[in-house]
Order: sequence, then C-alpha cells, then structure tokens
Amino acid sequence: MLALSAEGRLPKVDYAIFADTGWEPKSVYAHLDRLEREIAKPAGIPVLRVTAGNIRADALDPQHRFASMPLHILNQDGKPGMTRRQCTGEYKIKPIKQKVRELLGYPYPSRIPKGVFIEQWVGISTDEFHRAKDSGVRYMRNRHPLIDMDWSRADCTRYLTRIGMADTPKSNCLGCPFHGNAQWRHIRDTSPAEWEDVVAFDTAIRHGNARANAAGHHLLGEAFLHRSRVPLDQAPIDHVTAAERAALASDEADELDELENGVADGCSPWACRGDADHSPDDFGLTA
Ligand code: SF4
Repeated sequence: MLALSAEGRLPKVDYAIFADTGWEPKSVYAHLDRLEREIAKPAGIPVLRVTAGNIRADALDPQHRFASMPLHILNQDGKPGMTRRQCTGEYKIKPIKQKVRELLGYPYPSRIPKGVFIEQWVGISTDEFHRAKDSGVRYMRNRHPLIDMDWSRADCTRYLTRIGMADTPKSNCLGCPFHGNAQWRHIRDTSPAEWEDVVAFDTAIRHGNARANAAGHHLLGEAFLHRSRVPLDQAPIDHVTAAERAALASDEADELDELENGVADGCSPWACRGDADHSPDDFGLTA
C-alpha cells in the first residue's frame, strides 16, 4: 500500500507506521530500511517506527510486566494448552494508537473531540477479507484499499515483483509460536545466529515468563515455541508427524497448510484472531 500510495495509484498517505516488537528477523529490518529509502522518502512519506519495548527481552526480564506470547503448553497431566495472546495488542496496537493520538494532537489521556479522526489503511487482500475489522476506537477509521481494488494475494505478489520487491519478507517476531514448519526451517537453514537465538529463547521460557516465576506464579507444566511441545532444536520441523496428521480435524487441507506455513491470521494489527483482540477502550476511549 505504501508503494501504491507513493506511485500515485492510491491517494498519498501522510505517514506509514511500523510497530516494532524489537524481535523481527534481520531481513525485515533490512527490507523496511529499503522501503523507506527507495519508496517512502522519494515520495515524501515519513515512516514512523513505534515500539512498546523488546518482546524477547521483556519475556526474560523478571522486573518487567510481560504481555504474554501464545506459547504452546504441555500441562502436568500431559494435556496440551496455550497461553493467552496479549502481545499483538501490547506491542503493536497500543504503540500505534499512542502515535496516532500524538499525531492528532491529543496524547493519552487527553480526550479526543468527537469528529476528530484519522483514516487508517490495513493491508488485507481479497482472499482474507474476513479479517477486515473496525479499529474499535472512534479516532481511527479503518479502510482496506486492497479489498477496494479487488486485489488478491497473487495480485500483490505480482505488483511487488514488478517494482523489484519480490523478496518482501513476512513481518513477525523471530520466535513467534505461530510459525509453521516452513518458517522454522527457513530460520534454521538460512540464519544460524537467528536459529541459535530462537533455540535459546525456547529453552529460557520452558517454565514460563520470568516475571511470573519471580513472583512465585510458576507455570504448572512446560512452555514451548513449537506446536509439537518438543524443544525447538529437536522438534519435527522437516515434516508433519504421523501423530499430528492423526490429530487433524475435518478441514485437513487448511490444517496441513497451517502446520507447514503457520497460522494464517498470524499477527497483523486489526486483522488477528479473537483472543488477540485488544480492548477498544485501552486508551480510555470508546466509540
Ligand atoms: S508475531 Fe507472534 S510473538 Fe510477535 S507480537 Fe505477534 S503473535 Fe506475538
């Protein structure tokens, strides 16, 4: 959307905002720099990088209140579970809202007058139109220009290829538990230092987040990054196991795709799944 706007195929945006969890792959930061240098700057569009901290460091810091990642849990009775996802709201949505309020001239907790709002574009294509949502606050109105243009994911890929951005990487945390096998293999096979980093993190969160442990709230079970609930460096990331296949429900093709390519509704602000939802009032405002 930034490129389409810079090219004049969409109206010119005032800003582009990137919510940085502090733990994106190197390739994402390199791509963002390139986008900024080659597309945004020449078009006069500022790229604003906002952050609520470093999600990896926060998870391991006993002093820090940690907004939980969706970790795969193996309970003491052997049953699988997951921790509730709060990180999308905390590390992506919250800092974006904070910046928008600042741009509007009404930083939290000042009250934003009725009728004052920005238009926010969310990059959802036609094949995922069910993810299109309202912002939940009256000072941000969501629009979905790719859907308005009737662009599918394939249209986006074709366009990116035409403008020399075919290698656009997927933005999400390096150690996001929503990764499928393909993402884990990609890290392992292309970036040994990043693989070491995620394996070390996986080991470090085995007994839950540091703050909860320091406060005596020990996890009754073990936490893992890989859905198999096996330590990442031993997890079956090269193939779907017989047990995983046996556990699949009726819509097998979709589920198989998720095991390989990760959770499709991953972690896009304003386009994520139910329990990643944020309170519409988390900045003291309701529509
Ligand atoms: S990419 Fe994953 S770990 Fe990172 S904020 Fe999103 S859901 Fe949380």
